[in-house]
Formats: sequence, structure tokens, C-alpha cells
Amino acid sequence: MSDTTALDTFREETRDWLETNCPQEMRLGAVHFEDAYEIYRTDAAIEWRDRAVTRGWTAPTWPTEYGGGGLDATHHKVLTEEMSRIKALPAATGMGLAMIGPTILELGTQEQRERHIPKIVTGEAQWCQGYSEPGAGSDLAGLQTKAVLEGDQFIINGQKIWTSGAQYANWMFALVRTDPAAPKHEGISFVVLSMDQPGVTVKPIKLISGSSPFCETFFDNAIAKREDLIGELNQGWSVGKRLLQYERNATTRSKPKKKANEKPKLNVYASTAKQYLGEDGSGRIADTDMRSDVLEQVMNERALSLTTTRVVEESRSSGAPGAATSIFKMVGSSLTKSGSELKSRLRGTSGLVWESNEFSADELESTRGWLRDRAVTIYGGTNEVQQNIIAKRVLGLPD
Ligand SMILES: Cc1cc2nc3c(=O)[nH]c(=O)nc-3n(C[C@H](O)[C@H](O)[C@H](O)COP(=O)(O)OP(=O)(O)OC[C@H]3O[C@@H](n4cnc5c(N)ncnc54)[C@H](O)[C@@H]3O)c2cc1C
Repeated sequence: MSDTTALDTFREETRDWLETNCPQEMRLGAVHFEDAYEIYRTDAAIEWRDRAVTRGWTAPTWPTEYGGGGLDATHHKVLTEEMSRIKALPAATGMGLAMIGPTILELGTQEQRERHIPKIVTGEAQWCQGYSEPGAGSDLAGLQTKAVLEGDQFIINGQKIWTSGAQYANWMFALVRTDPAAPKHEGISFVVLSMDQPGVTVKPIKLISGSSPFCETFFDNAIAKREDLIGELNQGWSVGKRLLQYERNATTRSKPKKKANEKPKLNVYASTAKQYLGEDGSGRIADTDMRSDVLEQVMNERALSLTTTRVVEESRSSGAPGAATSIFKMVGSSLTKSGSELKSRLRGTSGLVWESNEFSADELESTRGWLRDRAVTIYGGTNEVQQNIIAKRVLGLPD
């Protein structure tokens, strides 16, 4: 069978399988990260995940020996296209798949891969990220949570903050200080630990948007096993930075992308503008200022989408993300934020409502979306931090 015929067969078979196995409730196109925690706990999501596990399609490109799909880039592209065709959400999501899984695959020992990766693929292990502390966000290397090696375990004391999904997680990956006397970047280790232990306390933080996607996490003689140190003792900073590249890469790729030759549909901004501001005689958005704001947003989103597609294609062979992911993280998150601001502005006062029976669900969601998207230029490293990385690591400018 020729390569093209084999790929066509794979596409047909994939399409049939998705039609049969992806529940209607999971054909939502895309969901906001704050909603994902709830959505992925529903029966439909669990059913979808468990069916996908049988094909390794919760982690389509990971090696089959750990339960992944083992798909090469070409087959993975077909799967992604077929999933977008029916608006299927990924069968599983979260920090296991996006962050710690790739890091363990790349930097973990064979024993760590065998112990942790299959549980990420099946969803048995749900992960959270213990990086930020009250005094260490952008200056992450200033972290103070202490871990002392006693025999075959680390005893951990301290506090993490903004721990997304900690209330749902049974595992955490964390940066901890193992040598307080060393220069700050050199006394840090990267460990993983169970959340289901008496030494770990989680307190959800309520946000202005009304939801509680993240928490404070306290360690009071919490335990991480010696065998769960990823990388070398006191060399955790480089492991932690690598994971952040995977995180920024995932943030960049998480949006559904238009195909390069896809005809633009009436954009969501344009339709919102027409609904609230009306049209002029030739069918354009009536307000000229808003028309140019919509145009600018749409053009920038399109440029990012095309650039991302090109860079993803170019980097398929090299695989792992690099420092340039900071550019995509910064531009992508800025556009997400300006996009939700624009939608609220186009709606005028109807885009600023918090609670009312007189306004539509879209209008109420618009206010929440505008507030929620304030976060995207902060998490995974703020825009200012991305600019510092781009200056140093991409452009090679001096410190
Ligand atoms: C929705 C959300 C989810 C998150 N989830 C997690 C999580 O799961 N786990 C986790 O560990 N953390 C998480 N975070 C925390 C996030 O990583 C930090 O908020 C972020 O790194 C910024 O740190 P900070 O909040 O302490 O701000 P600060 O570091 O105090 O920064 C305050 C301001 O100063 C600016 N600034 C700081 N240093 C510099 C500099 N050198 N040059 C220029 N400007 C600078 C920043 O850009 C920012 O505008 C999450 C944050 C959000 C918003």
C-alpha cells in the first residue's frame, strides 16, 4: 500500500472511530482553562478519556510502551484534523500531559518513566504545579520551600501559592530548596510528591471571576521519595526551566488553528460588532473606530495562527520546544486578552453585566471572560518575564 493510501485509510478509520466514540457533550471546540477542571470531571469526559486510552490517544505521540499512541507527526496531524472536524475536545488534558509527562520522558530515569507515564496516560494521576510562592513568582529562583534529605526521603516544609487545580490533584511536581547555602539557582531540586498525605494542605483561592481554579498549598513535614527526584540533587533549576518551555508551548498550541487555505468565516468580533453596533449601507460595521479595532485584532490573530502553524511544521523534526516559545506565549496571551476586552467593548454596557435575567448567557459570559483573561499574560511567566527571556535567549542581548 502506498503511503498516501495508508494515510487515507488511517484518516477514514480515525473518522469512524471518533464518530462512534467521542460523546456529543465533548464536541465543544474549545473550553476556558478555568472551566476545564469541571468539564473533565463529568461522566462524558471520563467515558471519552477511557475510550481514547484504549488507542493511546490521550497522549497520541507518546511511546506505546507507556500507553501512548506512538503516532508520528503525519498521523498525529490527521488525528488532530479529524478531531477539529467534529469539534472534539482533547480526550484528556492537564499538567500531566502538557508539562510533567514530557519532562519525565525527556529528563527522567527509565524507572521514573515506567512508574509515572502510564498513570498520566490513563488519567489515574492528576498533577499540579508547585512553583510559585508568596515571595517568589517572577523571581522564581528566590523560592524558600525547604526540602531536607533524610534517608530515602525528602522532608518538605513551606508554602506554594497559585497552585492551579491542587484541590483535584493527587500528584504535584515542585521546586524546593535543598541547599540554602548555595547561590539561589544552584540550591534547588525538582521533586514530585503525592498530594494524598497528611503533610499537604490545600486551600482554594476565590477569584474576582467567581471561580476557584487555584489554591494555596502548605507543606508541613510533607514527604517526597528520594526516587522521585527528577534530575540531579541541587540541579533542579534546569529541569524546572525545561518544564516551563513545555508549559509555554502547550499554552501556544492549545487553541484550535485555522488551516492555511481555510476561507475566513464571519469572524466572532465582526458578528458581535454588527449585532451591537449595526451595519452601514454596504454591510460593514457601522462604527469606523470599532471597525478598525476589529480588523486589527483579526489580522493579528490570523498572523499568529499562520506563524504558529509554520513554526510547528518547521519544528516537527526537532520536536522539543525552545526559548522561542516565549514569543508565542507573549503574543498569544496578549491577543487573548485584547480579544476578550474587544468583545466586551463591542457590547457596550451589555458587556459589563455580572448578574441579571435581562441579559443573555453570552453577555454574562463576556464579562467573566474579560476578567478571566486578565490571567493569561501572568501565568506560565508574565509578559515582562517573557520579554526578558526573548532578549537574553532569543536575541542574545546582554543582561
Ligand atoms: C491563572 C493563574 C494560574 C497559575 N497557576 C500556577 C500554578 O499552577 N503553579 C504555580 O506555581 N504558579 C501558578 N501561577 C503563578 C504565576 O506563575 C505567577 O503569578 C507569575 O509567575 C508571576 O508571579 P507573581 O504573581 O508573584 O508576580 P510578581 O513576580 O510579583 O510580578 C509583579 C509584576 O512585576 C513584574 N516583574 C517582576 N519581575 C520583573 C522583571 N525582572 N522585569 C520586568 N518586570 C518584572 C511582573 O511582570 C508583574 O507585572 C498562576 C498564575 C495565574 C494568574
